[in-house]
Amino acid sequence: MTVQTVAVLGATGSIGASALDVIARHPQTLRAGVLAAGSNVEALLALCLRHRPEHAVIADEGGFPALREGLRAAGLPTRAHAGAAALTALAAGPECQTVVAAIVGAAGLDSTLAAAGAGKRLLLANKESLVLAGELLMATADANGARIVPIDSEHNAIFQCLPAPRPADRDGAPADRARCLPAAREDVRRIVLTASGGPFRGWTRERLAGVTPAQAVAHPKWSMGPKISVDSATLMNKGLEVIEAHHLFGLPGARIDVLVHPQSLVHSLVEFVDGSTLAQLGLPDMRTALAIGFAWPRRIESGVGGLDLLAHGRLDFEPPDLAAFPCLRLAYAALEAGGTAPAVLNAANEIAVSAFLQGRIGFLSIPALVEDALAALPPARADSLDVLREADLRARRHASAALSRHAPH
Ligand code: NAD
Ligand code: MG
Repeated sequence: MTVQTVAVLGATGSIGASALDVIARHPQTLRAGVLAAGSNVEALLALCLRHRPEHAVIADEGGFPALREGLRAAGLPTRAHAGAAALTALAAGPECQTVVAAIVGAAGLDSTLAAAGAGKRLLLANKESLVLAGELLMATADANGARIVPIDSEHNAIFQCLPAPRPADRDGAPADRARCLPAAREDVRRIVLTASGGPFRGWTRERLAGVTPAQAVAHPKWSMGPKISVDSATLMNKGLEVIEAHHLFGLPGARIDVLVHPQSLVHSLVEFVDGSTLAQLGLPDMRTALAIGFAWPRRIESGVGGLDLLAHGRLDFEPPDLAAFPCLRLAYAALEAGGTAPAVLNAANEIAVSAFLQGRIGFLSIPALVEDALAALPPARADSLDVLREADLRARRHASAALSRHAPH
């Protein structure tokens, strides 16, 4: 039995923890060879002690001495690395066959692209890289035979519901590079992404004006990092996911719908032209999606229990409230506008969410700042990575400068 060596990028985060949990359940077939984190050396060292990787990377270069000394003091043979370039090189190098892309934000783009360019099995959680550079990332993966498995629960659900790709779905690709990702073909009428609605489902704008960071990160169904938790509370997360679904499955925004489903048991649905709808259901636990990512087309134990529908009793659905949660509308508009607009949406949102988490702006300033950046920076053609990076940078500058016009509440 061969062992699949895995690089977990964003190992100290929520997805990283779930990935390492699944890996540890399969010592005969899965091994964490590379662990990478942003700046928390202590947390990375604790993971190294437990999972004994060959390589550990801290993106923040200032953390290098502490990482190296900590590994030495613990008597571990793990090699210490630091900096974004080392992280990207390890994602692309022979040190791993599989990459779990679980860094939060646009900071994950370079390593995700590097893994795609090196033809890895790519468990893609870092949705921001798809929003920022989706066409480029998908083209790079296709050209190099990378096998992308979406880890976002909704996209993982659609991945499971769509029929397996035919060899002809990859024009001219050698058979051994068969595409893993199914394309939504003409027989798919639409896909429906479900949304929990977040902690403020049913709230009015007036009530939303006063919410605190602590309230916003307390998600009712999922345990996640702070940025995606705030995105879930504003519904920007669903907006980013609409753009993500467009790139992954090749559908226009008009054929991607969103349905609020507070129980978070139906993870998404695919409607076919014959009237059939297929859905994937399960408990809200990311280990299911990660197990799919590691083993597909096989299925392996993930540690997640089965779904007892009798115990849950009901499944409710309602439309999203775009008046109270304009971020979803803004994301559809950015997808429709195309070019650099999704990059601007994502960058302005990252600045706004970070400022909100620091208590510098109120909750309703998040959509206001994103809308302002989209209006101020009209979309340009996005035909290169440089153009996208430039748009990302300009949107960050624009949103940062606009922060002072917003008060905490
Ligand atoms: P998190 O905040 O819990 O973890 C983020 C990880 O990224 C940490 O390990 C951190 O050290 C690392 N990191 C941050 N900045 C970095 C940098 N500049 N360089 C290298 N590493 C850096 O976030 P999370 O909830 O695990 O989410 C990770 C990604 O997965 C996000 O893109 C999120 O949208 C996506 N996602 C998460 C969930 C979930 O359930 N948590 C579900 C779907 C998608
Ligand atoms: Mg999701």
